[in-house]
Amino acid sequence: MERRVCVKCDGILDRGTFGGVEVDLCTSCGGLWLDKGEIERLGTLSASELEALRRMLIPVPGQRPVASDLPTACVACTGKLKEVVLGPIHVDFCMQCQGLWLDRGELDAGLEAAEGKTDVSSLLKLAAATAAAG
Ligand SMILES: [Zn+2]
Ligand SMILES: [Zn+2]
Repeated sequence: MERRVCVKCDGILDRGTFGGVEVDLCTSCGGLWLDKGEIERLGTLSASELEALRRMLIPVPGQRPVASDLPTACVACTGKLKEVVLGPIHVDFCMQCQGLWLDRGELDAGLEAAEGKTDVSSLLKLAAATAAAG
């Protein structure tokens, strides 16, 4: 299995399974990578399962996500991540594999924004396409 590298801090992503959903997370900066469809699946987790995930996303003291204006290479494929708006937050989204990066603290806002929307990936794809056109 290939090792996935954090898009924000060069840490190696750990793999964790929460309520049957396998996600990649960075224990250095608290970022979270979700493959296509995983944000919808996380929305179905119980409170205790989500709490277990949140506990994994508490970063090492001193490490914080590094903001970058450069296009970031996708964690999972050869695509580039594009910043798109998901509710109150900006997330990094890959048009190619439709994966999604959440910075530390963005999980709850992301889940909230995804709530009620059956297909967040399509929504993000549309948002990314709009951003590219404008
Ligand atoms: Zn990181
Ligand atoms: Zn990708």
